[in-house]
Amino acid sequence: MEPAHLLIIDDEPNILETLSDIFKEEGFNVHATTTGRKGLEIIQKEPINVALIDIRLPDIDGMELLQQIKKERPNVIGIIITGNATLQSAIGALKDNADGYFQKPIKIEDMIFKINNLLEKQALEKELRESEQRFRIITDQSLMGILFVQEDTIVYVNHAFCDLVGSTQDDLLHGKFEDLLGLIDPADRKVFLDQKKVLDAKSKESHSLNTYQIYGSNSELHWVDAYARSIEIKEGIGLYIAMVDVTQKIVAEKKLKHLNRDLEAKIKERTQELEAANRAKSIFLANVSHELRTPMNSIIGFSEALLKGYVGDITDEQEEYINDIYDSGQHLLSLINEILDLSKIEAGKLELHANQVLLVDLMEQCRKLFKEKTLKHQIHLVITIADGLELFTADERKIKQVLFNMLDNAIKYTQDGGKVGIEVEKVDGMVQFTVWDTGIGIKKEDQERLFQPFERIEFPGVRVPQGTGLGLHYSKKLVELHGGRIWMESEGINKGSAFYFTIPQPLQAHASSSNTLESS
Ligand code: ADP
Repeated sequence: MEPAHLLIIDDEPNILETLSDIFKEEGFNVHATTTGRKGLEIIQKEPINVALIDIRLPDIDGMELLQQIKKERPNVIGIIITGNATLQSAIGALKDNADGYFQKPIKIEDMIFKINNLLEKQALEKELRESEQRFRIITDQSLMGILFVQEDTIVYVNHAFCDLVGSTQDDLLHGKFEDLLGLIDPADRKVFLDQKKVLDAKSKESHSLNTYQIYGSNSELHWVDAYARSIEIKEGIGLYIAMVDVTQKIVAEKKLKHLNRDLEAKIKERTQELEAANRAKSIFLANVSHELRTPMNSIIGFSEALLKGYVGDITDEQEEYINDIYDSGQHLLSLINEILDLSKIEAGKLELHANQVLLVDLMEQCRKLFKEKTLKHQIHLVITIADGLELFTADERKIKQVLFNMLDNAIKYTQDGGKVGIEVEKVDGMVQFTVWDTGIGIKKEDQERLFQPFERIEFPGVRVPQGTGLGLHYSKKLVELHGGRIWMESEGINKGSAFYFTIPQPLQAHASSSNTLESS
């Protein structure tokens, strides 16, 4: 801390010198003079903290000088030194604004002690004033309404509170707290009073937080979040209340709730409509597909008979056209079959007939079914079954459909001479199938959508093999019907692909599926 500035005014040079030396020694910044006039000059120029004034000076009365100094600098600590002190002159000095007095002969230790004391007190008062000022600024400027009540009298209220209740600080300050109760909506008043009773009853600090409706500015009803806290202070228990206007928030919340309810009702209604429409669509598709299958079988059967020469020889040109009819018929039939299966699943009509499946048999069927294709395209088919894995439970026909579809794709999308494989293993208690290939692969960004209906990947400049884009979607449905999961991985174009699916063991029907699970 900077040393305090002490001004000594005494016409006795001895005293002046002695006091100066002593206070310098004590670390004070000492200014000394023998006349009042010079003393006033020093006061003008120097940041004096304490003035020691002899009551009798040659040019001016010491008390008179003190008045002038205080007028100039109210914060200067003024101490009068009296010669022949009587009690009267001492009281007079104190009355006249002196902060202390000393009588000659001066007891120097007392004087140092007193001056240090006064300086300390002054510093503390300054600190207190500043902190009080800071507190006022913070609470006065707060957007939260703040009120402090002592013995049921309002002793502090900030602007935000006044704005909230449509009143002024002059009106509220020193008023009775009870008078504010009328502002609370009668429906909420009892809750508030009950809360206050609890707060009043507790000798220790306690608090409550509630939302009330109050009559605010323009006597309109406002929602407020009110926080009340009882606080132990010197005078007893004080009540601190902080309030925030939450009307907008509550109105918005209510609107939102309303909207949500409306929306939920609408969604429910729309869902029911959609479900009904979807059921109608599936039934329609099932019927139409069924009707289409019969003529398709004739088209395929008769074109095959023509190709095989059962009805006589045909020319090369005729063979080419009939081949086209046959291929298109096959394509249309598989499309119809897949649509029929899908519509059955969607209509909830597909049932799961679970039985024990022998893996070796299943793999043998795969090999047999694709023998011709693999031979034709010189594709090497590798099948591996993990050691000890022989049987698993599933709807064999449906698992076959998934495997055949994956194998068919793997061969279809792999260049001649490539490799295709099936792996079966047990992972986390489930049977996991992997159908992999060394084929054209799939870009990361395309991988997700493959399982959506009618999604096929276009390769610019490459003739994409014939397909419907329904196989993987249908496979996903079949796997999910078993409670399993289907996914695929590929490092990208020409990096091959691997398609996976799991079948939980023991088998669980998919939770959301309405299909029945039967053991046979
Ligand atoms: P489809 O093969 O009849 O078009 P799928 O649903 O079985 O229908 O397959 C969807 C698409 O996924 C295919 O069109 C193809 O683009 C891609 N795909 C499927 N399997 C493979 C695979 N093994 N390698 C590369 N692409 C594949």
